[in-house]
Amino acid sequence: MELTLETLEPHWLPFSSNRDFKREPRLFVSASGMYYWSQHGKKILDGSSGLFTTPAGHCRPEIADAVGAQLRTLDYTPSFMRGHPGAFALASAVAALTPKDLKHVFFCNSGSEAVDTAIKIALAYHLARKEGQRSYLVSRERAYHGVNIGGTALSGMVKNREAFGAVMPGVLHLRHTLLPENRMTRGMGANGVELADDLLRFVQLVGEKRIAAVFVEPIAGSTGVIVPPRGYLERIREICDRYGILLVFDEVICGFGRTGEPFAATSFGVTPDLITMAKALTNGAQPMGAVAVRDGIYRTIIEAAPEHAVEFFHGYTYSAHPAACAAGLATLKIYETEDLFGKGRELTPYFQDAMFGLQDLASVADIRGYGLLAGVEVKAGKAPGARGAELQAKLFDRGLHVKTTGDVAIIAPAFIASRAEIDLMTSILRDALAEY
Ligand code: PLP
Repeated sequence: MELTLETLEPHWLPFSSNRDFKREPRLFVSASGMYYWSQHGKKILDGSSGLFTTPAGHCRPEIADAVGAQLRTLDYTPSFMRGHPGAFALASAVAALTPKDLKHVFFCNSGSEAVDTAIKIALAYHLARKEGQRSYLVSRERAYHGVNIGGTALSGMVKNREAFGAVMPGVLHLRHTLLPENRMTRGMGANGVELADDLLRFVQLVGEKRIAAVFVEPIAGSTGVIVPPRGYLERIREICDRYGILLVFDEVICGFGRTGEPFAATSFGVTPDLITMAKALTNGAQPMGAVAVRDGIYRTIIEAAPEHAVEFFHGYTYSAHPAACAAGLATLKIYETEDLFGKGRELTPYFQDAMFGLQDLASVADIRGYGLLAGVEVKAGKAPGARGAELQAKLFDRGLHVKTTGDVAIIAPAFIASRAEIDLMTSILRDALAEY
């Protein structure tokens, strides 16, 4: 197909400047391993694992074969009151990676759906234990919890909420933890643990039994990589325990090895009550999300309903879609057989050295990082975010794909990256940043 304004116009791109894109389209037409290829045949190193989706590298034949075979055997099963073996196998495989008793898995089709599902599970749980008055939700400034209505209400990023955030009132926002005192800190900052006490203030403000759940990204990813201060997640957990509030970790970016362990909950040693996940669950090859739930929460909801009744009035036509389950199973097998989380852990110090090596550049305002995730913040230009958008296009033209948010480049290599590929990412970034 020829790419003209006319042929490009019908597709409305999400989270994009459609006019900029359509004036100068930058498309990917194929991918393999660590690389994409543009419509002009240009080879582009993937510095963000797609959109944090693809830690095993692109176009893995094991996943493509599994999806193809599944679609030829059983293409679709009604997800309500029916099932297929892959759904149960994948739930068990996910539950083998989640910490402690988070052993029940509810499937959906994206991170946004996982967040909205988690909101409903939290509310249904409290209702089932006769605390249905717990209607408040808590999240954080600068949070990103997807784009469905619940997740939008939880959002702490102004552009994502200003037109829509009022649709779901009753959300309180903790202050974010991006503190100037922690600037250029590798890993967890020493400052900011006391910000967790905002939760105590909310309890005092709305009442001890009014808050249903707190949503936290262990590392806030989409806002530009904010690593929690030391002790912060523990303090949030403690307050939740004291007041019967559920703690939800949104691990849509952190999950599946990004922080060195299967989930950031394990890396940071704090166990939430629910974990939302998506993206790397299928290595990005099929749309899929999931919520892992503690045993007691699952049982409370199930057992509160009469025998034979539907216990939880929620689900999607494509929950646990056979093709997505096949992709998920093939993905988790790759992670295990190739010890990809171990490889990611091994590569982490080299990657973080490379990223923090950029701090001598005059244009760099801050660098933050943990595991195979780093945010390099460029000093703002004329308007906030303008430089970030320009930087992304500049990097693409030099052969590097990186996701930017505002003025932050978010680097998240696949776990199969070689040191030479980390070097290449770093040198392209350095050259582009040196121009400011
Ligand atoms: N939650 C978090 C923490 C995310 O980072 C994202 C996406 O980046 C989402 C939810 C939404 O996921 P999706 O885009 O698959 O709906």
